[in-house]
Amino acid sequence: MKIGIKVKLITFTASLLLVVILFLSVFVLNGIKSYQDKENEATLFKQKDMFEQYFSERSSLGDNGTNNTAQLARGSIFNKPWLRNIPASVYDIKGNLLSGFKVDGMVNENKEKAVMIESASQGRVSSTKNNNIIYFYSPIKYKNSIVAILELEYSVKESSLFYENIKNMFYAAGFSALIVGVILGILYLFSLTRDIYIMKESVENIQKYDFGKIHLVNRNDELGELSKGIVFMSNTIEKNTKELKIERDSMSIALDKLQKMDKKQKEFIGNVTHEFKTPITIIKAYAELIGMYENDLSLINDGTLNISKECDHLATMVDKVLNLSALEKYDFEISKKEVNLKRILDDICTRMMGRIKKNNLTFKSNIENIVASIDEESLRQIIINLIDNAIKYNSPNGTIDVECHKFNNKISIIVADTGIGICKESLHIIFEPFYRVESHRSRETGGAGLGLSLVKKLVEKQQGTINVESKINEGTIFTIEFFV
Ligand code: ADP
Repeated sequence: MKIGIKVKLITFTASLLLVVILFLSVFVLNGIKSYQDKENEATLFKQKDMFEQYFSERSSLGDNGTNNTAQLARGSIFNKPWLRNIPASVYDIKGNLLSGFKVDGMVNENKEKAVMIESASQGRVSSTKNNNIIYFYSPIKYKNSIVAILELEYSVKESSLFYENIKNMFYAAGFSALIVGVILGILYLFSLTRDIYIMKESVENIQKYDFGKIHLVNRNDELGELSKGIVFMSNTIEKNTKELKIERDSMSIALDKLQKMDKKQKEFIGNVTHEFKTPITIIKAYAELIGMYENDLSLINDGTLNISKECDHLATMVDKVLNLSALEKYDFEISKKEVNLKRILDDICTRMMGRIKKNNLTFKSNIENIVASIDEESLRQIIINLIDNAIKYNSPNGTIDVECHKFNNKISIIVADTGIGICKESLHIIFEPFYRVESHRSRETGGAGLGLSLVKKLVEKQQGTINVESKINEGTIFTIEFFV
């Protein structure tokens, strides 16, 4: 069973007080008792001496040398008024009462009287106490021989009463001191143990990593120093724990990133392999066919055309894959220069106009004359890819709209089309490498799904953002924003 420090300290204090009070009482009471006993003895011996002296005086005067002490005792011993104050009796050595005097009210008789008289007749002094009366027996000698026995009765009622009073006083004072001592002890120990409990709770809270519940005990003693030590310890542990947590978090973020990158890389390689296989298979098939049917001119024409088309497709893909992985791997220096955006955009549009017209599309543009610090090569790649998609995924007789505006320090470039649109589910993943909207895959015009991921990377390299809004069969709007 666990006994708390409070109970232990209170029990200890109470026991200590009790022992001190007991020792003090026994010591003082014994002192009083032995003092009283000595006083009584001295009084009795003094009285005995008085009797003896009287006897000796009377004996030598009274009978002119006769030896009849017994006669003397019987006759005149108590004639002296001062002897009358002392309750005493005189016996002959056989124990017969010769003379006696008792103060009024003293009727007690000593039960051991016969034995004690006998003992006195042999020269011994003895006394006994009975009912607060000391019976004292002493031989009375004359000329060196015992002539009578003196019995003194000495009342110790007063001193016994005094002793009893003192004893009761000690009990009362001792009990009160014990109660007061325990109460004072409890009050003091309460504050002491309260502080100890506060420290104990603090230590428990440190164990639970609950550093908000650590309290300092304001004391100018060892406990106060201990409490300061606990608070210091708690602060150190809290600091170290926080640092450890930050390190652990950043480690787990880094690990997460690494795992994602690893996964992405594997997917990327898988996709590259897959996408490259198709054109290579087509090229190989046509090359074999041409070899088998050397004289079939139409097959040779068709084959050459398709091989050339697939080679272009392969070349574009290789170009984009290389660009993408380079952007991913190396932190390219962006070479920003003050350029005229209108000039660049108009140039791109003019170059692409042939394809636009070939696809029977209408082209509209609203390009502000803006000069800004931008990486021209990246911007060209971005816009070409977006207009290329606007051509590929447009509807017959659709429209392409290119706009460029500046508002405060924000430049917005918009490439919009009235094409087939992108479904909601695909909108957030079209920027992933190799992603193509499922329903667009059958379209001949479809690429490998690398254009938009390249666009996004290039925009982000220049601290820009790209957003897409689209509605199925209504069209798609890409918005790029740069801050200059
Ligand atoms: P791709 O070379 O296949 O065009 P992109 O990365 O440029 O690859 O585009 C990814 C996919 O997003 C495309 O395959 C197409 O499904 C969809 N997409 C891109 N631009 C448009 C657009 N303007 N309209 C409709 N769908 C588009």
